Amino acid sequence: MSKLFDKIQGQDRPLKILKRAIESNRIPTAYLFTGPPGCGRKMAAIAMAASLNCETGGLACEVCSSCKQHTSGTHLDLHITEPAPGKTGILLDQIKSVIGKAILMPMQGKFSVFVVDGAHTMNMEAANTFLKTLEEPPATSRFILIAPDKDSVLPTISSRCQTLSFSPLGRNIVRKLLEREGIVGERAELLSSMARGSMERALTYQSEEVPEKLANEFEPLASLHKSDHKKLLDLAERWGRNREEALGILDFMVQWYRDMMILSLEGPEDQVIHISHLPELQEGATALKAGSLSAILEAIEDARDDLNKNTNVELTLDRLLLTIRSYAPVQPI
Ligand SMILES: [Zn+2]
Repeated sequence: MSKLFDKIQGQDRPLKILKRAIESNRIPTAYLFTGPPGCGRKMAAIAMAASLNCETGGLACEVCSSCKQHTSGTHLDLHITEPAPGKTGILLDQIKSVIGKAILMPMQGKFSVFVVDGAHTMNMEAANTFLKTLEEPPATSRFILIAPDKDSVLPTISSRCQTLSFSPLGRNIVRKLLEREGIVGERAELLSSMARGSMERALTYQSEEVPEKLANEFEPLASLHKSDHKKLLDLAERWGRNREEALGILDFMVQWYRDMMILSLEGPEDQVIHISHLPELQEGATALKAGSLSAILEAIEDARDDLNKNTNVELTLDRLLLTIRSYAPVQPI
């Protein structure tokens, strides 16, 4: 039983491996935690560091002074390195500082733990410098690298780490975590369905008031199937200003057309996310029919794949909106 590990949701497999390592006292020198941001990788790294130095000698208890210092970030042997504010990557000097500390004995506990959050952002020079320490690490130092996936770090780095992959969080888990933060009801539903498996993304959307911003997009979305070509081009331009926002819009569109699909198939209304826009959804569902709706949902998924492959954002949206328009019944003039 470890309260710190128990706070991490939806990651049973990697956590089981970590707990087993602590319990058997066979802890690899370096781990690479992969997965989307905000799925529990950093919390797991801190729980692991706390376990290595917990006064109980076992899994982090959360109550001893060492565990408390790990969770408050004040333990002298827990070192977290991430890109500095305003910088996009971890710099060579930061890695040199890690190496300098890693050769020293721990100051408080049994192990010094170095968490490198954003290991994929190290440039070649920093990564190569780090490599030497990963190859011949001091006995009392442990490293936990965090990156989106194994391929995003140099093979020479990943081959020296035990890789544990963390999964995107399920929508229900994100909703439950949001409820713990006091975000409930339709808003929690909306944020969790837009979060794409990342609690961090859900909270960013919350703090950036994305639901309020999207409120302006309901009208154009609802009238998409009856908009003229010029209006669609204008929309593609507005929605296509940057890739991350465009991906957010696509998530929003998926929810919208899925809601219509539920109504079109006479499914349960409690599964409709945008229930406050029921009249517009009903109108769309009647106009478009289930067959067209499923083709539209497929077209949105294709556009998402394209955006993830770095295609031109505006052109991708342009093509998508015209495709959606083509499924609409011809409007009487
Ligand atoms: Zn403890």
